[in-house]
Amino acid sequence: MKCPSCNTVSKNKAFKNIQKDGKRLEVQCPNCDQWLIIDPTTMKFKFAGFALILLPSLINFFIDDVHYRLILSVIALLGACLAVYGVVRTKLIPIEPSNKNK
Ligand SMILES: [Zn+2]
Repeated sequence: MKCPSCNTVSKNKAFKNIQKDGKRLEVQCPNCDQWLIIDPTTMKFKFAGFALILLPSLINFFIDDVHYRLILSVIALLGACLAVYGVVRTKLIPIEPSNKNK
């Protein structure tokens, strides 16, 4: 993960200070102490992509029509592309820490 604040690339294990704010996971850059979160937009791409893979796969079990199965396969393929896009574009964005107890 690359810190957008100091441009230092750190391994995931390097982030020792982690705190949860509701559903949001916040991490602190080990180099410049800037608090960061994973860009929520790319997270949406990932979730939407995985949903598009899973749903057509499930529906395929109940449908015998070959044409519908083909369409569902194409949708699942698009979902896979979306998920890969989300994973590749995952980045950290700087935030203000939610609680400042040090
Ligand atoms: Zn940093």
